[in-house]
Amino acid sequence: LHANFIGVTHDVLIVGGGIAGATAARLLALWGHDVLIVERERAARPALALSLPPSCAPLLDAIGVRDRVDAAGFVRGTGNSVWWGGTPSAPARLRLEPYASGRAGWQAERGALETVLLRAARDAGAELLTPATVRRVETRAHADDDAPVHAVEIDTDGAVTETRHAHWVLDCTGRAGLLARAQRAAALEVRTLALVGTWERASGWPVVEPTHTLVESAPWGWGWSVPLSETQRCFTAMIDPQRTTLTGEAGARPDAGARARELLPRYHALLAELPNLGALVADAQLVHAPWACDATPYSSREVAWRGRLLVGDAASMLDPLSSFGVKKALASAWLAAVTVHTALLTPAHTECALTLYREREAAYVASADAALRSVARTTTHDTHQAPFWSDRGDADTDARPQADALALTLREDADVRAAFARLRTAPVVTLPPRAAFTWIDRPVVRGNVIRPEPHLVLPGIAEPIRYLRGVDLLALLDLAAGAFDAGVLYDRYVRSVAPATLPDFLGTLSVLMARGPAPSS
Ligand SMILES: Cc1cc2nc3c(=O)[nH]c(=O)nc-3n(C[C@H](O)[C@H](O)[C@H](O)COP(=O)(O)OP(=O)(O)OC[C@H]3O[C@@H](n4cnc5c(N)ncnc54)[C@H](O)[C@@H]3O)c2cc1C
Repeated sequence: LHANFIGVTHDVLIVGGGIAGATAARLLALWGHDVLIVERERAARPALALSLPPSCAPLLDAIGVRDRVDAAGFVRGTGNSVWWGGTPSAPARLRLEPYASGRAGWQAERGALETVLLRAARDAGAELLTPATVRRVETRAHADDDAPVHAVEIDTDGAVTETRHAHWVLDCTGRAGLLARAQRAAALEVRTLALVGTWERASGWPVVEPTHTLVESAPWGWGWSVPLSETQRCFTAMIDPQRTTLTGEAGARPDAGARARELLPRYHALLAELPNLGALVADAQLVHAPWACDATPYSSREVAWRGRLLVGDAASMLDPLSSFGVKKALASAWLAAVTVHTALLTPAHTECALTLYREREAAYVASADAALRSVARTTTHDTHQAPFWSDRGDADTDARPQADALALTLREDADVRAAFARLRTAPVVTLPPRAAFTWIDRPVVRGNVIRPEPHLVLPGIAEPIRYLRGVDLLALLDLAAGAFDAGVLYDRYVRSVAPATLPDFLGTLSVLMARGPAPSS
């Protein structure tokens, strides 16, 4: 062991105290680990309103911060108001898209949300070092058990550099991607630049649903607006900087002041081209000058190693159109914490945990990518035959999320349908014993750890599966030994295993009957 690596002080060092970093830190500290967060800058950033859908609620509960987020005073968003695909001759009609069942999300100011999460991390016992910038991470494998040790160089106030040591380093540095940058792959060959300004209208905004996120498409991209309060909203123009020029002269590199001066008229001109968002700001006051930030989606070739994970936006950035960046950051941080906790608790399960982490990250990217392509294709098809949209709609694959694709395929399968019909007419059915099926171990999350558990290999289904429509195949086959009446079996399953709807349960049984080995008579 190198002399510099003696005296490891932290189980986990988290680089970046944004949404992902604060979340992972809180969970790991709650679960008894020694955690240090290093955050570069916590001040002087312009406001950015983030729209969090109601489906973030279970994650906020799992992280134990729902009450704090509720108490932070954020506007509770109830849906989206959308003007999509209009043309000068046929303006888009307003489409109101309330969240299902009247649920509400959160329209959170980024800095305020981070403050809530960081406070929750510190209350759980995590240490916060800020302002402090991580410059370098050096990794050495430990000679005895192969557990890596990292030496992390930190600039604390420009001049002073200190080194801290940790077994795990989580890169939660967002787009900056301290460790992630070397892994980066663009999701699509397109770029997106966000121009964000904050506007005030003292008498409130003349919109149908004031808590809604407003979205409006244009040939050059799209505009959106998220409320910060009853009187303030962020208005953003999302453009492709390769297709919509910001500076008059190509290749010119103006200084920051000149860039800001150029940005202002361009920002005003873009908003003015949006019939609805433009009308809203016409008599409002710009209280924070527009600023530009790169919002181009990307993914990483690799996100997980022994001792290192890329988390949240560091691992991948979803297109802002999805409004799922924060949800993904929370989910990714939760799973990162579970992965690290597993590795620290049960080193033998580290590889299994890393596998699951990689798979989930890849699944986010695939579904976000597919969703963006589908919106872009519809937009190109409907009205804006503009390069901004056709570039984003060019698809070479149908990247439908795997679980949906599997459920759909099986629903259409002739053998499965025949088995389903048999179940309805012949109440007593026989399934082969569990041991007659082929099983292989795959990772699953149980509470706050990941462990290998048997998954079923079925012909014609690419991935081994443990759950189908939420029904546990292993538990079901254990209950179904011998001949059974489907209705009785359903009652036993929901009483002794987990809730399931009858159609989901019968559908799953049908798949086992159709795709499993033939029962011996
Ligand atoms: C214009 C725009 C609008 C968006 N709107 C939405 C929306 O409406 N809804 C939504 O869900 N998502 C939205 N997003 C996405 C969302 O903001 C991100 O997905 C989310 O903030 C990611 O959180 P993170 O913690 O992974 O990364 P970040 O928020 O980027 O945090 C990274 C942190 O790391 C710190 N850091 C970086 N390098 C270092 C270093 N070397 N040392 C120490 N610290 C470092 C940074 O200071 C920062 O605090 C939007 C994004 C943009 C750009």
